[in-house]
Amino acid sequence: MTTLTRADWEQRAQQLKIEGRAFINGEYTQASSAQTFDCLSPVDGRFLAKVASCDLADANLAVENARATFASGVWSALAPAKRKARLIRFAELMRANLEELALLETLDMGKPIGDSSSIDIPGAANAIQWTAEAIDKVYDEVAPTPHDQLGLVTREPVGVVAAIVPWNFPLLMACWKLGPALATGNSVVLKPSEKSPLTAIRIAQLAVEAGIPAGVLNVLPGYGHTVGKALALHMDVDTLVFTGSSRIAKQLMIYAGESNMKRVWLEAGGKSPNIVFADAPDLEAAAQAAASAIAFNQGEVCTAGSRLLVERSIRDQFLPRVVEALKAWKPGNPLDPATTVGALVDTQQMNTVLSYIEAGHQDGATLLTGGKRILEETGGTYVEPTIFDGVTNAMKIAQEEIFGPVLSVITFDSAEEAIAIANDTPYGLAAGIWTADISKAHKTARAVRAGSVWVNQYDGGDMTAPFGGFKQSGNGRDKSLHALEKYTELKATWVKL
Ligand code: NAD
Repeated sequence: MTTLTRADWEQRAQQLKIEGRAFINGEYTQASSAQTFDCLSPVDGRFLAKVASCDLADANLAVENARATFASGVWSALAPAKRKARLIRFAELMRANLEELALLETLDMGKPIGDSSSIDIPGAANAIQWTAEAIDKVYDEVAPTPHDQLGLVTREPVGVVAAIVPWNFPLLMACWKLGPALATGNSVVLKPSEKSPLTAIRIAQLAVEAGIPAGVLNVLPGYGHTVGKALALHMDVDTLVFTGSSRIAKQLMIYAGESNMKRVWLEAGGKSPNIVFADAPDLEAAAQAAASAIAFNQGEVCTAGSRLLVERSIRDQFLPRVVEALKAWKPGNPLDPATTVGALVDTQQMNTVLSYIEAGHQDGATLLTGGKRILEETGGTYVEPTIFDGVTNAMKIAQEEIFGPVLSVITFDSAEEAIAIANDTPYGLAAGIWTADISKAHKTARAVRAGSVWVNQYDGGDMTAPFGGFKQSGNGRDKSLHALEKYTELKATWVKL
């Protein structure tokens, strides 16, 4: 947790020298078109930087450099223990620059400085370090062959990886990809979201300082439909890893099919159910968790517990607790260390969230708390954490990912009904289950089609467990050793003895 005051952070913000250029082959460079876009802060609308608006020409140049670096073996052929050492140094440099990176993240996308400095940046550094530490401890296989044969099953880096990431945890999502992509020896072209490019641009320099050779990590800021599309259609990108919406994820599969059949791994959206049974062991803990599951990071979380499924018999005693718990999550200036809910990432996202609140009213749901834009006078984009009761799962606010602090409460009468409602969306990213009955917990966990299930907690986990989705929440997994599978090809080599 930061010990700096809001005034300290403001002062540091005034002194920041923000880099907005692309990073190709170890150097900062303008977009080849020299085009830029203005990066504005959702905190109060202040101008932060002119950012390079990369396009096809920059994608071609970055991929060409990434390919040449990969082919040279300067990184791909380095002993895993040596890659490990440099990646750990990279993680250490992120930690050494924590204040600057946290400030950039908060100014750029509006999350509380307490979160960016205690969760996002340390988490990003840890994601790099965890995978780096593992990489010289994973072995390949020898096949059970007859004695006159030797069958080797080896993993090789895929080559050039393009990583396209979102704005809600800008550096953390990037590092969930960079850790395993770099540890396995690939060269990477990273495209951050146009809404939050600043930390990705900054760490490119830290990677070179850490001894990761020029050309191994390239960063191309710009729009999805320009540079993102160019990377996804590129004939010399071997693997495309993505975190973002399911709509764009589907588009990327089409691009891969239209180009070189590059491998495509997608971490996409969610509409996660948080199921509270009447026999939950601690209703207060469940209420607190239900509130943080929708308010943390302004609700801009892929795993947000955006559908609260409550068993009818406890509904009347439980919901007032949730409303009370959510009141503690008050939006405020994200540079104030006491703030727990910051600004939504931009005006467009705020308007999307407000339009879903309107849809909730129109569909006949009952507003329990929140529902309005606030702090408009600051020039920032703040929306009150909001709860709708009386939601049916067919309503728009129950089916679509809002990606803001809007909670839909749905009542159920049996475990079967809860499971049916939980599974009745196109998504399958995460779920919470609250019950003291261990059999019911396991049976429900098995029946819910989701990549992560939390029992008597919400949003648990660390680098040791894989993270990703069923159904239209995506494929493949980030984190854990399973993530290495996305960045390597399996090779079988048969030697006649
Ligand atoms: P988005 O899909 O709009 O954009 C994600 C990235 O894709 C951005 O960098 C964007 O520029 C790029 N992009 C957009 N159009 C493109 C195109 N035609 N070709 C190539 N690239 C393109 O998503 P977002 O609004 O940035 O992020 C929010 C979404 O991310 C939510 O749906 C959320 O659930 C999801 N998310 C998922 C996870 C997970 O691990 N499953 C984690 C965080 C966020």
